Amino acid sequence: MFSYRHAFHAGNHADVLKHTTLIALMKYLTQKDTALTVIDTHAGAGLYRLDGDYTETSGEAREGIFKLILGQKAALAQEDASKAATKKVAPPAPLAPALQDYMDLLRKLNPQFAETGEAAHLKIYPGSPFIEQQFLSGRDKLKLFELHPTDFKSLSGNIEQLGVGRQVVVAREDGFEALKTFLPPPARRAMVLCDPSYEMKTDYLRVSGCMADAVKRFATGTYVVWYPIIPRPEAHDLPRKLKTLAVKAHRSWLHATLTVKSSKLTTGTDGEVIRPGLPASGMFIINPPHTLKADLQAALPQMVALLGQDRNAGFTLEHGG
Ligand code: SAM
Repeated sequence: MFSYRHAFHAGNHADVLKHTTLIALMKYLTQKDTALTVIDTHAGAGLYRLDGDYTETSGEAREGIFKLILGQKAALAQEDASKAATKKVAPPAPLAPALQDYMDLLRKLNPQFAETGEAAHLKIYPGSPFIEQQFLSGRDKLKLFELHPTDFKSLSGNIEQLGVGRQVVVAREDGFEALKTFLPPPARRAMVLCDPSYEMKTDYLRVSGCMADAVKRFATGTYVVWYPIIPRPEAHDLPRKLKTLAVKAHRSWLHATLTVKSSKLTTGTDGEVIRPGLPASGMFIINPPHTLKADLQAALPQMVALLGQDRNAGFTLEHGG
């Protein structure tokens, strides 16, 4: 059985990249009048507590969403102090619209945080299913797949509380396989998020295979893949494979990466080897909306400035087609 639980990672820097991108995508794709089908092949639990045991133990949110909030607050406080001392310093840029939308969604789910702006009042973190659901209108549909029994149960309970009936369907099925049965979608508009845990090496191959099959079944869907950037050949190959598949199918594509720190192993004071944890991750999108590149072009430098931990921090943004 799988040991990966997203609760340990909720709100980390990879979630900041993934969820900011997802919000920008959902915002654009739900503006049209035709119904949209959203398929989330690896949904997770849907909602996470940032003050729960899992998140506190891993501390990953401290290097992600909390760092983003505290960094922006510090920049604003510095501006106030400079004003008071009538020093002339460049004012901090307001958050890019995509990051602003991300913060707005967090405020919506955390009324006390919305009221005070205090990071300590940010208690609930939305996973991809809740982000997707927030943007749906009556005609749209959301299909969620999650295999882990505990996360499936949490996800089902969390979605049930929304009282949205059959608009959102939750299934304990293999998302890679289930996707096939939903393409092409009835109104011929779909967005697919494929966000596995990559706990098993085979996940990398399954992602590229599943995306190739999906593009064959429904060429005009928007396909969104998150992947970790780690020293492993499969992880390096995945974006290359996705690019080749998009180019061969004459589809446009966009590839964004965010690095927050060096991937090098270091040595502790007692000579122990310290692994850096996840240093970087990427998003590969086939058939992105034309607005996404500008959205990320504005947001990525701010993510680097606010989340970067050393001089290796940076981003890349490429597109084609
Ligand atoms: N997309 C979620 C989010 O952004 O909030 C996080 C998902 S997490 C990275 C990956 C999830 O996929 C885990 O909860 C894991 O249990 C689940 N999983 C692993 N293999 C799966 C499969 N073949 N089909 C469906 N779910 C799977």
